[in-house]
Amino acid sequence: MVRRSARIQYSGAQKKPSSDQIAATATVAKQADEIKKLKTELKECKKELKEKNQKNQLQMFNQKLEDHKKNLTEKMADVMVRIGTKKELEKEKKEVEELKKKCLDMLKKKSNEAIERNGGPFEWQICSVCLERFTEEDQHTPRVLKCGHTFCLGCITKLWKSGDIKCPTCREVMWCMNPATVTKNFMIADVSK
Ligand SMILES: [Zn+2]
Ligand SMILES: [Zn+2]
Repeated sequence: MVRRSARIQYSGAQKKPSSDQIAATATVAKQADEIKKLKTELKECKKELKEKNQKNQLQMFNQKLEDHKKNLTEKMADVMVRIGTKKELEKEKKEVEELKKKCLDMLKKKSNEAIERNGGPFEWQICSVCLERFTEEDQHTPRVLKCGHTFCLGCITKLWKSGDIKCPTCREVMWCMNPATVTKNFMIADVSK
């Protein structure tokens, strides 16, 4: 009887945990809970970080895209300015050409009127060496020497002697490799067309 009750008491003591054991179990459970929480937090942090990285990458990509766009816009503007300037220049060039032609026509008209009033060509329209009128024809084109006197190319070629041309009017010597390169007197040439 005594033995049996002792056995019951024993088994009862085994079933009932001590307060230390209860406390330890509670601590472990609490710690497990905390670990679980921390794991969840860590998971969330990782997720957030991933999102942030993706966002950063997207921002960087967007920035690069913006820079590229800005660069292209600037280049485009530059090209537009250049096209505009070129068009403007071409227009101005055309206007100058037209004005030049108008002036030349007027000059020719006035010159012809003056020749008519004079009863013949002026002295400056005639080569003082061969006494022929300056024309567009190569050998009769007016050429101006360094001294400022003008003669026809034919006469200048005859005056040329081993690299020197001696002006028949003032005797100044001009060095020249090739008489054909002597500057054309455009003032006279233009009204002699
Ligand atoms: Zn001549
Ligand atoms: Zn001269």
